[in-house]
Amino acid sequence: MNRIIEKSLALFITGAGVLGCTPENNEPQRPNILFIFSDDHATHAIGAYGPKHNNPELHKLVQTPHLDRLAQEGMLFTNVFCGNSICGPSRATILTGKHSHLNGMLNNDTIFNGAQQTFPKLLQDGGYETAWIGKWHLFSDPTGFDHWQILDNPGQQGTYYNPILGSPDGEEKVTGHTATIITDRAINWLKSQRDEGKPFFLAYSHKTPHREWVPGPEEYDLYKNTDIPVPTNFYDDYSTRSSALKEQEMEIATHMNEQDLKLTAPGYLNEEQLVQFRDAYDQENSDFKDANLSGNELAEWKYQRYVKDYLRSVTSMDKEIGRMLQYLEESGLAENTIVVYSSDQGFYLGDHGWFDKRWMYEESLRMPLIVRWPDVTPAASTNDAIIQNTDYAATFLDLANITIPGDIQGKSIVPLLKNGSPENWRDVAYYHYYAWPDWHMVQPHYGIRGDRYKLIHFYTTDEWELFDLENDPDEMQNEYLNPDYTDIVKAMTERLEQERIAMSDTVELKATSNYHR
Ligand code: CA
Repeated sequence: MNRIIEKSLALFITGAGVLGCTPENNEPQRPNILFIFSDDHATHAIGAYGPKHNNPELHKLVQTPHLDRLAQEGMLFTNVFCGNSICGPSRATILTGKHSHLNGMLNNDTIFNGAQQTFPKLLQDGGYETAWIGKWHLFSDPTGFDHWQILDNPGQQGTYYNPILGSPDGEEKVTGHTATIITDRAINWLKSQRDEGKPFFLAYSHKTPHREWVPGPEEYDLYKNTDIPVPTNFYDDYSTRSSALKEQEMEIATHMNEQDLKLTAPGYLNEEQLVQFRDAYDQENSDFKDANLSGNELAEWKYQRYVKDYLRSVTSMDKEIGRMLQYLEESGLAENTIVVYSSDQGFYLGDHGWFDKRWMYEESLRMPLIVRWPDVTPAASTNDAIIQNTDYAATFLDLANITIPGDIQGKSIVPLLKNGSPENWRDVAYYHYYAWPDWHMVQPHYGIRGDRYKLIHFYTTDEWELFDLENDPDEMQNEYLNPDYTDIVKAMTERLEQERIAMSDTVELKATSNYHR
C-alpha cells in the first residue's frame, strides 16, 4: 500500500471520517465517559475477578453477568488500590486526583471543600457536559456538575429503598429500590436532559453494596438453599500482627447489629416492601431463634446471612448496570462512550472474620476497575500495573484530551488502556488511614504496597507489619521481626519514607476524628 492511501485509510479508521467527527468543524469527536461507581464492592464479589486464594469456590456463586460481560469486552485491572479505605476520603481523592492530606478529606467527619480544583470542573471548562447521579457522600453540594441528584438522607449514605434525592431544586422522596431509581434517573438524563451538542461525563453512582445490604425484591431468594463457603482465615486469631487487630470492632461474630442481620426490618420500607422483606426472612429468623446457636455455629449463621445479602445486593445492582449498558446500545451511544466501572474501596467478606473496610490489607485496599473503550481496549484483557484512586482524575481528563494540571498526584492510565504495558510506572501504592476513634475502631496507619511486599506502620502504637504477598497472600504472618526479612524491611522502610515525602504527606502522625461514642 502506498503511503498516501495508507494515511487516508488511517484517518478514516481513526475517526476523521464518517462516524467520529462533528459535522460543523470536522474535528474528531471526543468520547463520552460513563463512570459507573459503587460503594464497598470487593473484587472477590465480581465473577470476572476469578477465584480468591482464601475462598476459591466463592466466585462460582457470585452473579455479576453484566460486569463480567464488561470485562469480556474491555480491560480488567487487578492491582488498583485506594489511598484511604473509607467512603468520603476515597471519593474526594477521585474528584481531585490528590491523596486525603492534600484534598483535606481525611475522614468521614470532614465536609469536602468543593471550591478546590476537581476533574469535573476541568471537564466542564473543556467543553464537557457533566452530571453526578446517585450516592455522593461528601456533605457539601456537588460542584463542577451541570446536573446533579444525590442520595440526601441524613448522613448521605442513602437508603436501599425509598431514598431522598437532593438536587439544586431541593429534596424529593422517591418510592422504589434505590439501585433502580438511580438507574432510571441516569438513563433519563442521558435520554432527555443533557445538552446533546457536547460530549458527556456521567457519574452513575450506586450506594450498593454498602452496609446494610438489602437486596432488590427479585434477589431475596438467591442462595436460599446454598451454603456459601467460609474463607480459610475466618477464624483468624490475629497473632503476630499489630495489637490493633484485636482492638477492632468489625467482626461478623460479634459486631453486627440486628439490622445488618435482617433480624429487624429497616424503618424505610413501605407496606408492600415490608411484606416482601418478611416473606424473605421471617421463617429463617424464627428457625434461627429456636436453634439458640452459640460459638462457631452462631458466627457462621451470621456469615451466611451477611454474605448472602451482600451478594444478593450486588446482583440487584449488576442487573441495573445491565439495563444501563443496554440503553447505551439501543441509543447508539455505546460506540462513542467509554465505560468505567469502579468502587470507592473494597470490603471484607469474612476474610479475617470481618466485614467493613479501613485496613490496608488487600480486601479493603483493592478497588475493582474495568474499562471498556470501544476499538481501543483489547477484549478480555487484564492489566496488573499498580494503580491508585489518585489516577482517576488524570485519566478522565486525558480521555477528554484536556491538559492534566501539574498538581494532580495521579497519572493517566490511558497509555495502559492503549497498549497494556506500563512504562516508568509506579512501583508502590501509598496509603494513609486517619480516622480514630471511629466506627469499627481501626487504629490509624500508613504504608506502601509493592508488587510483592507491603509495609504498614501503626503509629499510635508504633507497631510495624511486613507482609510477603507471594508467600502469604492472606496476610496472616507478619514478617517484620523475622531475621530472614531484615534486608527487605530496611529497603521497604526507606522506600516508605521516600514515598511519604514524594506524596507530600507531612500530616502530623496522630489520630484525627470528631467521633463520639
Ligand atoms: Ca465506601
